[in-house]
Amino acid sequence: MRIIIFGAPGVGKGTQAKIIAAKLNIAHISTGDILRAAIKNETELGLQAKAIVERGELVPDTIVGAIIKDTLQEVRCKNGFILDGYPRTIAQAEILSNIFRELNTETIHLVKLRAKDEIIIDRISNRLVCGVCGNILAKNLVTEHFVCPNCKAEESYYKRKDDDEEVIKRRLKVYHEQTAPVFHYYADKAHVIEIDGTKNIDEISQDIFAKLV
Ligand code: AMP
Repeated sequence: MRIIIFGAPGVGKGTQAKIIAAKLNIAHISTGDILRAAIKNETELGLQAKAIVERGELVPDTIVGAIIKDTLQEVRCKNGFILDGYPRTIAQAEILSNIFRELNTETIHLVKLRAKDEIIIDRISNRLVCGVCGNILAKNLVTEHFVCPNCKAEESYYKRKDDDEEVIKRRLKVYHEQTAPVFHYYADKAHVIEIDGTKNIDEISQDIFAKLV
């Protein structure tokens, strides 16, 4: 199955993408995770992307386009994939359509998660991320000497630099101006599903699976 999970930053795309990928045995491809790993490892890509990501702006389309093209050709994507955080501009959606044409990719499912900006700002301000596996948890659940429930790493949770309130507001502005139009691009190109992203994690997963197949 080929899926794009779509929605504003902090709406829960990453959490749901991991659940869907595990259940369908498909690859979870998060451009945000790929960029964060590159920044952490100080690769050439990381050095190019660091300041842009930390300001809450978008990395140039050509750079993320090249990442996606390479990644989709990896063996782990053969059985399908879920794209999380890509495409974020119309230009990226067009690059992706060209890649899909080259790879003869069949039906695309687009899952859009919806939530109001106030809810998103509140959620992102109160979340921490596991530095080892990327798992996300609410700040109030993470205590001293905490062990990640997902990968069992100890005391690995941190606050993302771009989860600062001012940066979150910039990311939402970028979303409304540059990413929201991508949804309309897919109206006649994908099987589109819209889901209420304000419910709890399990309810959202159930809603997605009920409409996906
Ligand atoms: P995310 O984890 O998806 O919220 O992404 C974190 C940050 O990585 C974004 O705010 C951007 O700076 C950058 N990023 C992730 N995906 C993309 C993309 N498709 N295009 C441009 N920048 C991206």
